[in-house]
Amino acid sequence: MPELPEVETIKRTLSPLLKGRLIKEIKVGLGKLLLPGEKEFIARVAGRRFLDLKRKGKYLICLLSGGTAVIVHFRLTGQLIYVNGQKPLPPHTHLRFFLDRGELLYVDLRQFGRLEALAAKDLKDHPQLKELGPEPFALNERDFYGLLQKSSRPLKALLLDQKVISGLGNIYVDESLFRAGLHPKRPGKELSLPEASRLLAVIKEILAEAISDGGSSVRNYVDGQGQRGRFQEKHRVYGRRGKPCPRCGQTLAYTKIAQRGTHFCPACQK
Ligand SMILES: [Zn+2]
Repeated sequence: MPELPEVETIKRTLSPLLKGRLIKEIKVGLGKLLLPGEKEFIARVAGRRFLDLKRKGKYLICLLSGGTAVIVHFRLTGQLIYVNGQKPLPPHTHLRFFLDRGELLYVDLRQFGRLEALAAKDLKDHPQLKELGPEPFALNERDFYGLLQKSSRPLKALLLDQKVISGLGNIYVDESLFRAGLHPKRPGKELSLPEASRLLAVIKEILAEAISDGGSSVRNYVDGQGQRGRFQEKHRVYGRRGKPCPRCGQTLAYTKIAQRGTHFCPACQK
């Protein structure tokens, strides 16, 4: 599932290609992907221009002319790819936005993603967007420490909770806890201020590195031009269950916390 660095990369790669483009026609292969429904979506979106692209947590938000917005929920396997010229369509292409230059495709193997059209003025009241906690980059160490202090839940569950902090998913939580040397089961409120500061610094560092590497392509993630990311090559624990810890050599462990597979080093993470 695209997390903050992947959605940020999609936004950065698509922005220069889409800004100012007119949506001439929408060809719908799978209407269930469109909210509030296929007819309403087309009525709101066709004939508009892309003005700007924003990201909030793991959501991409397209601001269109006429006071319209589209929220893209990528979920597990959603992809938004700009193409220009004759190329075979990728498998699982379900939506085609024909533009005045090129074409924007929505591709989704598992079909859990959604594109939601609404009035831009309603974005601030959108139930899912409204609930999102602050982004890591917007937090200082005191705020972050305060968030952790409020909860006895394990760090892994806390950091995955989009209402507490937005943008992190399984990959970047596991990688951050490893780099910070913190056990994923540690209760949030047990962290000292220096530990919380170190964790926040590491989260920001890893997200920044992942963005500059174009995200992590662990399943099928690609950017807005269909290119794979490179940060997966730098993962130190995520997806490396049973392999030696890159720091101490002990076998990396795997467990479930908050129903999510969790990779960690039992020796390095206290
Ligand atoms: Zn280790």
